[in-house]
Order: sequence, then C-alpha cells, then structure tokens
Amino acid sequence: MTIIQRVSPALLPMMQSHICKWEQCCLCPLSENRFKPVFFRGTLPCDVLFIGEAPGDSENMTGIPFHPNAPAGEILERIVEETIKVHNYHINQNIIPCFGHTTIYYLKWAMTNVVVCCSEGSPPETCIKSCLPRLSEFIKMAKPKLLVAVGKVADSTIIKEGLNKQTKMTVIAHPSWMLRQEDPELEIQRAILTLREALDVL
Ligand code: SF4
Repeated sequence: MTIIQRVSPALLPMMQSHICKWEQCCLCPLSENRFKPVFFRGTLPCDVLFIGEAPGDSENMTGIPFHPNAPAGEILERIVEETIKVHNYHINQNIIPCFGHTTIYYLKWAMTNVVVCCSEGSPPETCIKSCLPRLSEFIKMAKPKLLVAVGKVADSTIIKEGLNKQTKMTVIAHPSWMLRQEDPELEIQRAILTLREALDVL
C-alpha cells in the first residue's frame, strides 16, 4: 500500500518549520521513547482530520501514524476506504455537467495523534498538555472541516482544550479498543456509520 504524505506548496514552508520546531522537542518525558517523531500521514490541508492517541511501537519505527500494516492502522484505513470513498461517489452522482465539464471533488484526509512521541499505553496528562501547542498548530495548518477524535483520549483532549471551536467534530472508538472487543466487526461498522453520518452534514 502506498503511504501518502502530501503537503500543498503553499503550506510547505510552514510545515517545514513546524517539523523543525518539534522533531527535537524534549518538553516531556515521551521524548526518551522517540525513535522517529510521528507527525502525520495523508494530505494537507485536508477536509477530514483523524486525531488518535499516541504513536505505538510500529509508528515509532516508521514515523507514520496508524501505519496501515499495523493492526489498528489497518482498521482505520478500512474505515477511511468505506466512508470517504463512498461519500465521493455520492457527490459525483449529483454533479451536473456545466459548460461541458464535470468537476469531481475528492475529500482529502489526514491522520495525526494527540502526542508525537511513542507512548506505552495512554500518554500522561502532562505530556498531552506539553504537546498541545504542536497539535493546535497542526490543526490550524490542516484546516479540516471535520475533526474525527479516534478514541476517548483524543475526544476529551479536543473538547477540554476547545480545539473544535472552529470546526465540526465526531468521535469513533479507537481501533485498538475495537480489537479487544468480543465482536470487532460490529465496532468497525459502528464507526463507519458514525463517520458516514458526519460526512453527510459536512
Ligand atoms: S510528545 Fe510532544 S511535547 Fe512530548 S516530547 Fe514529543 S513532541 Fe515534545
């Protein structure tokens, strides 16, 4: 699978200085676990921004959040495929050709986490606080129309810190949590439904 990390030319200088600023950050103890900082994957700016909890071991090795070859990333990838692709399809069906042209708009998405450095289990509250300016800076650059909190930690952080003031928001369960449930497929379908509903009113 191709992993996309695409930044628009207009955003590139800002993104480069964002990375320079945070890749060597030592504001919290999670910096000690960091092999690679895990900034984002997807396209920036984006329509839909998924915010997870913290990079795990495989993300720490690759620098890619929700790596599609890791179990949680594989599930989130499937959720994206079955929501964003279907949504594009509906948009395309309704487009009326104008002056001989048909405009097809594909929703852009990206993924990041509440913290950039690897955490075993949920990141401590103090580390989330330390990484907040980075997350807030990233959201401003991404300019999403919809924030998707992936799991409870992202949900409570976004709400508590008011990061959703300028944008719509929805919440889905974290794929790692889904995998621990008796029927993970049921949880995946719930997340797909939630996201489709949010996209319908975008
Ligand atoms: S998690 Fe965020 S605040 Fe903590 S060291 Fe990494 S970049 Fe800095």
